[in-house]
Amino acid sequence: MARRPLVMGNWKLNGSKAFTQELIAGLNAELAGVSGCDVAIAPPVMYLAEAEKALVGSQIALGAQNVDVNVQGAFTGDISTAMLKDFGAKYIIIGHSERRTYHKESDEFIAKKFAALKEAGLVPVLCIGESEAENEAGKTEEVCARQIDAVINVLGVEAFNGAVIAYEPIWAIGTGKSATPAQAQAVHAFIRAHIAAKSQLVADQVIIQYGGSVNDANAAELFTQPDIDGALVGGASLKAPAFAAIVKAAAVAKN
Ligand code: PEP
Repeated sequence: MARRPLVMGNWKLNGSKAFTQELIAGLNAELAGVSGCDVAIAPPVMYLAEAEKALVGSQIALGAQNVDVNVQGAFTGDISTAMLKDFGAKYIIIGHSERRTYHKESDEFIAKKFAALKEAGLVPVLCIGESEAENEAGKTEEVCARQIDAVINVLGVEAFNGAVIAYEPIWAIGTGKSATPAQAQAVHAFIRAHIAAKSQLVADQVIIQYGGSVNDANAAELFTQPDIDGALVGGASLKAPAFAAIVKAAAVAKN
């Protein structure tokens, strides 16, 4: 089944109002006339208003890097699904390894965020992936299965209809050491088979992005792999030419 690739930029804790305007203007120019790939960016929530304005008429969708499980009330510092929708955000990253590590987010808590996003009609981008130690101990599949099952156990496999999984080996994030296309493909195939064991239909349509030091030099080869449906991009998403080159590589490889 042909899946439309998705390339998404995760800006993390970077940017300013001016940076947001400039980067989006650069991306709009670089991506004019490019088709065959869905594109999204996730600026810091502080800049969603600037981003929303700069994206009027653009093919680039707005996203966010996190969301809370509560919709409103006494939850100091949190951001709800309704607030993200208010700014036109569509793709919401949850379970990023930086949040799992620095904010001690558990699989169960992330599953609640997944549920909140589905309830709100937003697209969860569920990040999963193993640490270097887990990789060396041969536990990659076990970790990925556990992180996916945390959602399936609560919401059922159908929750992955219209959702996105980003396989991001932690040892590859921000290190410049990407998984090889073959390494990534093997894990993506495992993830898809794991979902297919519950529902082939869901497995066939779910977008599985690779993330971890994707750049304009290595993207094209990663996208030749059949189960790699795009990328979640950190560092290289902060420069319009590099991010646009990754989008173009996906559009070429997948069409
Ligand atoms: C990320 O944080 O999601 C990521 C993949 O970062 P980088 O591309 O910088 O490795």
